[in-house]
Amino acid sequence: MTTPKGVDAQQRFSSSNPCPVCGGYPSLPHHQAVRCTGYVGRDGRIYCSRENYAGNLAPNDKTTPPTYAHSRGQCGCGIDHKLGPVSEIYSYSDNGTTHYEIVRHQNKEFRPRRFSNGRYHIDLRVPVRILYNLDAVKAAGPDDSVFYCEGEKDVDTCKRHGLRQRRRRACDGRQDDAQPLKRRA
Ligand SMILES: [Zn+2]
Ligand SMILES: [Zn+2]
Repeated sequence: MTTPKGVDAQQRFSSSNPCPVCGGYPSLPHHQAVRCTGYVGRDGRIYCSRENYAGNLAPNDKTTPPTYAHSRGQCGCGIDHKLGPVSEIYSYSDNGTTHYEIVRHQNKEFRPRRFSNGRYHIDLRVPVRILYNLDAVKAAGPDDSVFYCEGEKDVDTCKRHGLRQRRRRACDGRQDDAQPLKRRA
């Protein structure tokens, strides 16, 4: 783990000064997904090491692992960092194409982001809401169980449960386009 020369202790993240993007810091156990080895740059930007929160920001290879430079506030990664650290990003896909993602912040604020013209945008006008985990719902056979869940978090829990049971199960979430469920009792 290396950071560029000139990055002092005050710029690094810690439990009392976590990364404003992901909420992580380096001393978290390695197995915890929120560990972040980034720092605050002298340019004021937040250099977060979490690739899955980077959108399509270019990696800064001067650090190992690479970091991604986030702007404070509305950022080119499609996230408004004024809302505080992100806890999860949920992808909404149909036939393998991601139509939009829902960014869940640790303070339980949700914001959609979309990818178009080569970059992510915060876009509050998600045109057609689709079922979360729609591809699995479509792939489910007529005799497979499909669970209807409150939100994405429950869907993900359900997916893990389904995997353990080695049965094809699918879940969906929210009050989205429920057409794929209509043929089910
Ligand atoms: Zn981070
Ligand atoms: Zn960002």
